[in-house]
Amino acid sequence: MGDPYSEYQVVIVGAGPAGTFAALELLKMGVRDILIIEKGPPLEERHCPLKERGSCQNCNPCRLLSGWGGAGAFSDGKLALSPKVGGFLDELIPEEKLQRLIQEVDRRFVEFGAPESVYGTDFDAIERLKDRCARVWLRLVPIPIRPMGTDRCREVLGHLYRHLHPQIEVAFHQEVDLIRPHGETKELVTKDGTTYRARFILLAPGREGSQWLKEQLSPFGVKFYTNPVDVGVRVEVPAQIMEEITSLMYEMKVIYNTPTFDDEVRTFCMCPYGEVVMENWGGIFTVNGHSYRDSHSSSTNFALLVRTTFTQPFHSPIAYGEYLARLANLLSGTVIIQRLGDLRGGRRSTRARIERGLIKPTLQQAVPGDLSYALPYRYLVDITEMLEAMDKVIPGINSRHTLLYGVEVKFYSLRPMIDCEMQTPVPGIFVAGDGVGVSRGLVQAAASGILAARAIAQKLPHRSGNRPR
Ligand SMILES: Cc1cc2nc3c(=O)[nH]c(=O)nc-3n(C[C@H](O)[C@H](O)[C@H](O)COP(=O)(O)OP(=O)(O)OC[C@H]3O[C@@H](n4cnc5c(N)ncnc54)[C@H](O)[C@@H]3O)c2cc1C
Repeated sequence: MGDPYSEYQVVIVGAGPAGTFAALELLKMGVRDILIIEKGPPLEERHCPLKERGSCQNCNPCRLLSGWGGAGAFSDGKLALSPKVGGFLDELIPEEKLQRLIQEVDRRFVEFGAPESVYGTDFDAIERLKDRCARVWLRLVPIPIRPMGTDRCREVLGHLYRHLHPQIEVAFHQEVDLIRPHGETKELVTKDGTTYRARFILLAPGREGSQWLKEQLSPFGVKFYTNPVDVGVRVEVPAQIMEEITSLMYEMKVIYNTPTFDDEVRTFCMCPYGEVVMENWGGIFTVNGHSYRDSHSSSTNFALLVRTTFTQPFHSPIAYGEYLARLANLLSGTVIIQRLGDLRGGRRSTRARIERGLIKPTLQQAVPGDLSYALPYRYLVDITEMLEAMDKVIPGINSRHTLLYGVEVKFYSLRPMIDCEMQTPVPGIFVAGDGVGVSRGLVQAAASGILAARAIAQKLPHRSGNRPR
């Protein structure tokens, strides 16, 4: 941990993929004197009671989302190797440049221990599947996926730490509270009063820290843009139903414009032979999915999400998404599970009805109930119409036994005004990752960190070694 007033060339806030890949790139470009400040613990201390014992202890900061590796540490570790998913960097840089960055990120993950196998490279078979989808107006987006699995993902993060740590400093359990100008440098003050100074700072606080980031940048006059919100459910089906698809592509990305509302519904985060998990976002419980490389369930789960971009005068999509999730929490105490047949029949699911079904739920803490009390009619129609369309390509997916968990919400953080180098209008302050709404996945988060690091390194005149403090 640094002394009061320790001064660095670069201080990075957040040890998620955006922050750690930025550190890797800075080192590669000869920058020294780098500090990462992370409010969570080191990897070996990251134990999530919700994941391990099924009961959330409201840890502060949340062990699932904070610590070495960021929100990615307990993630499924699916590396989506396409500019078309996982973020919006293609709005800032040309697609070819992004594709090259994605390849660099992927190579680095492999160097640190990600498996060699990539799904989604049998192009003839994928073309045939695309054709079948097109006949029912589903748009299949082919994405090469390198799945690490949650267990391997942690090993990779361990290797990354051991590579970085001797060369850079990492201050764990330190939450940056305040950023203020100090002459040519910036000062970062942590909650325990420690002050760090840096010529350049890179803020990569993840979704978790997006509100904090907004509070820090707004006083400097930085404007923020509103992003859409994705709301939906997690669907769980027997793994055999999806086997043809998941063995070919691992993850099927399809987009559908629904007949009734013309809304855009998409599949997201498919977890073959995985399990549904619960997440706690600051006291709000939502659902997600995981797959493990070395232990398999008999089900496959994935999210169906409806994208909503609100127009004037409403500009609080995050509050809206949180409100829907809270409603499901209010009704169930946690998250709701319902059989598709019960939803269609206008009745709640009960424990007995779920037990009569043919799928054993992988998330035991979900409470049987009625999603139609939590999700607006529009979203329910969108989701059921999407399942009907998918059933024509994947027979059985629209069965009455199919399980739905809700709600799943994917927020995009508010995006500050930034340039193509991830620089804010405030000289010396750069941003990266999910916390600034440019990414929503490991690969683009890491890519945005690299972009910022390259720009910072270019601006540092002395890159050959440590500057005297
Ligand atoms: C359960 C789950 C499964 C996922 N599965 C996948 C997947 O399979 N594939 C995929 O591509 N993506 C997945 N994701 C998304 C992926 O994890 C994120 O997109 C990625 O981690 C974002 O990286 P980031 O560096 O921007 O932020 P984060 O990973 O969120 O890291 C930000 C870090 O900053 C720290 N921080 C925040 N504020 C402060 C502060 N004030 N002071 C100090 N530290 C601070 C936080 O503690 C955190 O450690 C998953 C996410 C979750 C939650």
